[in-house]
Amino acid sequence: MGIADLHIHMGYADHLKYISVEEVVKAAIRHDVNLIGIVDHYEGHEYDVIVNKIKEQVEQVRRKFPEVEILFGMETSVLTVDGEINIKPEIARKLDFLIVGMHHIPAGGKCLPYEMKGKISVGEVKNNPEFQSFLQKFNFEDLIDDWQKTTLSLMHNPLISIYAHPVQWPFVVMRKFLPRGKWLISRIEDIIPPQVAQDIFSAAKEAGIAWEVNNEYLPPKYRVDNKYVCCADGRNSWSGMINLFRIIGKFGVKVSLGSDAHCPDELERVGRLENAMELLRLAKVNKENIILRREQIRYYGTST
Ligand SMILES: [Zn+2]
Ligand SMILES: [Zn+2]
Repeated sequence: MGIADLHIHMGYADHLKYISVEEVVKAAIRHDVNLIGIVDHYEGHEYDVIVNKIKEQVEQVRRKFPEVEILFGMETSVLTVDGEINIKPEIARKLDFLIVGMHHIPAGGKCLPYEMKGKISVGEVKNNPEFQSFLQKFNFEDLIDDWQKTTLSLMHNPLISIYAHPVQWPFVVMRKFLPRGKWLISRIEDIIPPQVAQDIFSAAKEAGIAWEVNNEYLPPKYRVDNKYVCCADGRNSWSGMINLFRIIGKFGVKVSLGSDAHCPDELERVGRLENAMELLRLAKVNKENIILRREQIRYYGTST
C-alpha cells in the first residue's frame, strides 16, 4: 500500500529554483506514494500567476500518470487572531485543497496590533534585531492566548483543508527568541489545556479539517529515519507532539501527512514519511483517521 504526501513545494513561490509537476510525480512513483498534494506558498494576489501556471501543469500530468492522484493546493498564512487568511475565497476555490500555516505572529490579539498584520514572520525574526526586541516585550502567556484564538478561528473557516505544522509556531518562537528562564511550554497542555482542546478539536472534527503531522516532528531518539529530514538535529521536533496527536486521535480529528519537501533541492524527501507514521503509531492514532485517499480530504475538487 502506498502513502499520501500532502505537503510538497514546487519552488515557484520562492522565485529562485523550481521544478515541474512531472518531476515531482516521478519521484512520488519511485517512493511508492499514491496521493500527492502539490502546494506552493501563496501570500497575496501577486502569486496568482503561480496558481495558474501550476494548475495547468497538474491537469496535463494527471492524464499522463493515472497511477498517482494529484491534488493541487496552496499553502497560505493566517494573519489575524480572527482567522483572516492571505488568500481570497475566489482564488482558494480554484484549488483542490488549501493548507494554512501560522507563519507570522497573528495580529489583532493581545500581542500585535491589526496594523502589523503579516509584518512579523517567524522566519524573519532571526536576522532582525528590531523584531527580536519587539518580541521580547511580549508576555509569552499572551502569545499562547493569541495562538489559541487564531487556531480556533481557523477551525471555523470553510476554506481550509489542512492546518500545516500545527503548534510548531509557539515552541519555535519560544526556543528561538526567549531566554530559557521564560519558557512556559513543557507539555502540550501548556498550549492546549483540556477546555481549549475540547473547543478546538470538536470544531476541527466537525469541519473535517486535518491536522498535519510533519515528518520533522518526531524527536531524533524516536526516529526510524534520520536521512530524509530537513533537520537531522531535531530542531523542529518536540516530544510533546506525540501527546498532541494522542489527544487529536481521541477526538477523532483527521490527520494528514506532510514531508514539506521544498523542491527541487529536497526532491528526495518527497513521500518519505516514516517518522510521521511512527509518531502516529506512538500516539495510537486510528488508521482510518489518517488521510491516505482523496475522498478523506476536505476537498473542493474544482480542477478535475
Ligand atoms: Zn509552512
Ligand atoms: Zn510548507
